[in-house]
Amino acid sequence: MAQRGGNNKGGQRREDCCSFCGRRRNEVDIMFQGVDGSNICGACIEVGHKSLSEAGLAIASPKAKQPKAEVSMNDVPKPKEIKEFLDKYVIGQDEAKRSIAVAVYNHYKRLSVAQGDEDVELDKSNIVLVGPTGTGKTLIARTIARLLKVPFTIVDATVLTQAGYVGEDVESILSRLLQAADYDTKAAERGIVFIDEIDKIARKGDNPSITRDVSGEGVQQALLKILEGTVVNVPPQGGRKHPEQAFVQVNTKNILFICGGAFDGIEKRIAQRLNTRAMGYGRVDTESIDRDNMLKYVQPQDIRSFGLIPELVGRLPVLTHLEPLSREALRNILTEPKNAIVSQYKAMLAMDGVELEFADEALEYIVDKAVEFKLGARGLRSICEAVMKDLMYEAPSSEEKRVVVTRDYADERVSRAPMTQLHKAV
Ligand code: ADP
Repeated sequence: MAQRGGNNKGGQRREDCCSFCGRRRNEVDIMFQGVDGSNICGACIEVGHKSLSEAGLAIASPKAKQPKAEVSMNDVPKPKEIKEFLDKYVIGQDEAKRSIAVAVYNHYKRLSVAQGDEDVELDKSNIVLVGPTGTGKTLIARTIARLLKVPFTIVDATVLTQAGYVGEDVESILSRLLQAADYDTKAAERGIVFIDEIDKIARKGDNPSITRDVSGEGVQQALLKILEGTVVNVPPQGGRKHPEQAFVQVNTKNILFICGGAFDGIEKRIAQRLNTRAMGYGRVDTESIDRDNMLKYVQPQDIRSFGLIPELVGRLPVLTHLEPLSREALRNILTEPKNAIVSQYKAMLAMDGVELEFADEALEYIVDKAVEFKLGARGLRSICEAVMKDLMYEAPSSEEKRVVVTRDYADERVSRAPMTQLHKAV
């Protein structure tokens, strides 16, 4: 690229021309100015980048750091390793963790088969997690994505509508995944999508509607095609606000979908089914049924009778449940996981040179309050926030280098915090 610095085209002031090609500001799309007042236009930057690339000197773009599009089974952790990784972050929920570990492993087997010449084509292992809110559904999905280092996004099924209605089209799910993948389509095509509150788009009533209902069945129909695997035209910026944007084609064949929902009241349907079976064909021994935890007997027909259309249930072959969190589990959540709430506060205060301790009774107290407010694991953080608020304000400027949070201290702070604030923080 010839330098023509100082070119003074037709009396044009030097600062208005590209110092390399001499084009005027109004002749180029974009012009950058250096500290000494010299300029470079977009076209010259492109020529420069091309020369560097040809010489193998171009700086690798962040995309180059994205995961490889090809999958080798050697790189994929075994189900046991996946479960062990989940154990570091998610307390309890063994059943769900095991099912997911196998489903994710099989998903990657499927990807490697798809790349090879094998005759068999493995089905997708999309997953549904049924369990009360705040028991770790999102956490499990997020932790899996962290382990596999693949792009991950969470979408709320309640904001989705079928095309043509106010709300977000299902394609917006893929826009978000693309954004999470830094617009690397290949990486997005093997990412993980967590669709939360899938139960909220259940069909109202047991009979299929003649006209599709916007909130439920229509969205389920729209989800079908992306769940199964198809090429979708995705607006990279998402939404309908940028009608001028060019579409990016995303193949959803290898994207793993994990759906989560509380399915409130599904226990009744499960019980009904089990009772019927107790009397008729395929008898079950009703004596041995754990009536306190009916979710563990959940079957595809239960989520179907809850209002998910059969086609959708069919595309979510892995169904597993999460247990309600016991007191003991809540206590462990405070201190055990790798990024446990208590460890986070300790780390934050350590940055101010302050050593933080929680007395055992203080931790028990926090758990009591979470149970009392019926906030589950989500409540632990908001209660801790109420306990720690003053300390976080004062400790950085205090002379004290060691602070112990006692039960009385915690009680005093929580009693002062407005209940509404605790609820809002959830
Ligand atoms: P949901 O089941 O509603 O998706 P989340 O996974 O979002 O619940 O849980 C909310 C928060 O509660 C998580 O960020 C995490 O801090 C905590 N939590 C919930 N369940 C667990 C669990 N089993 N182990 C560790 N932390 C948990």
